[in-house]
Amino acid sequence: MYEVSKCAPQEALRDLDRAFKNFFRRVEEKKAGKSVKVGFPRFKSRKKGVGSFRLTGTIRIFNGHIQLPRLGVLKLKEKGYLPVTDVHILNATVSERAGRWFVSLQVEMEIRDPEGAERPVAGVDLGINRLAQVSDGTYFENPRALKKAQKKLKRLQRVVSRRQKGSANYQKAVHQLAKAHARVANIRKNAVHQVTTWLVRHKSAIVLEDLNVSGMMKNHHLAQSIADVGLHEFRRQLQYKGKWYPPFHRGWYGCEVFLADRFFPSSKQCSQCGVVKDNLRLGQRTYHCEHCGLVIDRDWNAALNLEQLLTVS
Ligand SMILES: [Zn+2]
Repeated sequence: MYEVSKCAPQEALRDLDRAFKNFFRRVEEKKAGKSVKVGFPRFKSRKKGVGSFRLTGTIRIFNGHIQLPRLGVLKLKEKGYLPVTDVHILNATVSERAGRWFVSLQVEMEIRDPEGAERPVAGVDLGINRLAQVSDGTYFENPRALKKAQKKLKRLQRVVSRRQKGSANYQKAVHQLAKAHARVANIRKNAVHQVTTWLVRHKSAIVLEDLNVSGMMKNHHLAQSIADVGLHEFRRQLQYKGKWYPPFHRGWYGCEVFLADRFFPSSKQCSQCGVVKDNLRLGQRTYHCEHCGLVIDRDWNAALNLEQLLTVS
């Protein structure tokens, strides 16, 4: 207790307090007849916990270094992405994953209205084959490194199950596996960040499909790829990046995000003449229109339909 910053246990207790307050508030709401889920705060094991702690107090950022209470000045591996000027730092959260340490900051800052630069609108189809297809023809493939990393994951998983539980070699294998898992997650995260940043920089409005993700998860073939793409995460990033873009990055952008109706037939409709097909098999990668003769990539057709939702209405 005395070795670590007093903030670490304090902030953890604050989290617990918030969890209980939320719990009791929901209990009250349920009594009042609202349909809310009431869940008792879940115990987080030290062994399986999130592996993070929060610090308040004197936090300073230098170029390439950060100063935290009790820990002193620490060197940062990545440089230039933390705000150095014009911000009020509230707290810092330090977390660990697979042997790597991270720090994130909660800051208070002035947010200007985005500059209304003239940029086009776009429809975006999030896909199974491609990560994202934009209606202007641009597309983003799923990262190639992902497949390789996933293969390694499977191999390491087998190694872990062959080791004797509790042995030193078991521990080593578990650590290797955790590292591989983190790598897969990071590759995926990076790809999604690249696309969403590109979109808010180049477009002023974006239409996305409002997919019924939980319904699709039941379909086993789709489940893997939908999980891969991380649709929810994609939408979340677009929405926050569109409104808010860190000033320490170049430029300032505004981008609105719209969701198409859940039943909008973005894949089945022809983007040229508007005729809707009765059915379109999932494996069919090219869209052929019997009515006007259009032949186009399936995902591109869907993206164009989504864009037209904005431009036509
Ligand atoms: Zn057509």
